[in-house]
Amino acid sequence: MSTTLDGKVVLVTGASSGIGEATALALSAEGARVAIGARRADRLEALARKAADEMLALQLDVTDQESVRAAVAATVERFGALDVLVNNAGVMLNGPIVGADTTEWTRMIETNLLGSMYTVHAALPHLLQRKGTILQVSSTAGRIASAYSGVYAATKFGITAFSESLRQEVTAQGVRVVIIEPGFVATELTDHITDPTMQAAAQNLAASMRTLRPEDIADAVVYAVGQPEHVAVNEILIRPTDQIQ
Ligand code: NDP
Repeated sequence: MSTTLDGKVVLVTGASSGIGEATALALSAEGARVAIGARRADRLEALARKAADEMLALQLDVTDQESVRAAVAATVERFGALDVLVNNAGVMLNGPIVGADTTEWTRMIETNLLGSMYTVHAALPHLLQRKGTILQVSSTAGRIASAYSGVYAATKFGITAFSESLRQEVTAQGVRVVIIEPGFVATELTDHITDPTMQAAAQNLAASMRTLRPEDIADAVVYAVGQPEHVAVNEILIRPTDQIQ
């Protein structure tokens, strides 16, 4: 059975685990040709082996503009075009503002915000050529800030602001911009939190609810990308039913 994604070329960043991995698999299952990027090459190779169709594994670091440009170029070289960018790579290092290790702030801003912007910058000329689609993975934290996630929330609010400017600049040229805002998804994201109190809080929160699965977000991406060209799904907010804030 052919789908609207048949033959579309997609680049997914942060594809070595969690939401990115599930999204890459879902898009591939829908017939897309998928390039997968992240720093952990072994995880990308394992994912490529799992996929039914060929996937192009690209080791990349979104904080490094050269690396991002090279990954976009390699995708276009292999598949001949770029139709969809799933801009997903991110880190969440929660903790109080007072006394924070500010290198963690730098890491979040460089990865989630600047890295995501660099990726758009590198991919945009190709997406304009194809009237493509950009999916920006933000968060519920991009709409509601909470204590102990101020910098993470700032990066996600930043993604929303950047995405709306981008949408206004490219919509007349047929490029669609979609912001995806997940609530709590069970992934490796919280494993990297260094503050033990915050780490315990994240585990308690996960245990207190039926969290989303990465596949739930992948389904939303497939829905948004699969719409006919005149339909732009600009924003999707998905919480676990049990999540209050
Ligand atoms: P994971 O930790 O499982 O995935 C994060 C991905 O980002 C990994 O593939 C990681 O790969 C990649 N990544 C991190 N830093 C870089 C970098 N410098 N360059 C390239 N890739 C990088 O977590 P999730 O799947 O949950 O997170 C994916 C996105 O979803 C993030 O943007 C996150 O903020 C967002 N999100 C997650 C929610 C959740 O509850 N899980 C809720 C709302 C939003 P590697 O380490 O191999 O480089």
